[in-house]
Amino acid sequence: MAYSIDLGKCQEFFLPDFQATFDFGVSLGSSLSAGSVLLLEGDLGAGKTTLVQGIARGLGIDDFVLSPTFSIINEYLEGRIPLYHLDLYRLNSAEVESMFLELYWEGVEIIPGITAIEWPQRLSYKPDHFLHINLVHFNDGRQVFLTPY
Ligand code: ADP
Ligand code: MG
Repeated sequence: MAYSIDLGKCQEFFLPDFQATFDFGVSLGSSLSAGSVLLLEGDLGAGKTTLVQGIARGLGIDDFVLSPTFSIINEYLEGRIPLYHLDLYRLNSAEVESMFLELYWEGVEIIPGITAIEWPQRLSYKPDHFLHINLVHFNDGRQVFLTPY
């Protein structure tokens, strides 16, 4: 199913199962533009990585998107625009600060793309503009809350 998402508004959707989270990501991936930053919050198992797998599909990336929990950053360059998938779970704020992640959203020395960050609570600084995505366990599915900043 395709979701109609207005990226300029606060919105929420109920995602009943894995496929819904993936499809929601596909819809996001086909509408986002280069330079977008997504801050993905939610408990372990909330569906953050599933959503990014959908985004990759929406961008036309055929690679299987794995969780970057151990690699920290995975870059996918073969889609409509690049996807930079980060997971800061294993890092502390000082480590995150030393990584100069702003290079991703400023597009310095990289091709501007979509930067999707799991565990953005670890960021001590935020981009000027971003889409906050919060995934919350709800009944057997998830409720997703979108807030543009
Ligand atoms: P996270 O990256 O937030 O830790 P993952 O995407 O790795 O979460 O895992 C989420 C788990 O929940 C997976 O087992 C996935 O199949 C399942 N899942 C994803 N979305 C939903 C949903 N809307 N309803 C029920 N289960 C879901
Ligand atoms: Mg994850």
